[in-house]
Amino acid sequence: MLKKKQYVCLNCNHIGFPKLTKKGSKKTEIFWWVVATPIAIIYSIYRRIGSKKICENCESENIIVLAKKN
Ligand SMILES: [Zn+2]
Repeated sequence: MLKKKQYVCLNCNHIGFPKLTKKGSKKTEIFWWVVATPIAIIYSIYRRIGSKKICENCESENIIVLAKKN
């Protein structure tokens, strides 16, 4: 099972779980799924590659994952 890791934001000092951001828009993706499926697949992959974790509070990319001590 995959558990979300907590992070601390270097920008606003918020501690929480990261938000995943994707490139492009969901609307555009749906549009391509309706109009041209092959383009939609490429667009979907493109969005996934461009995804990154951001702070849920201030949407900054300056976050560090808190290491779990065993
Ligand atoms: Zn933040």
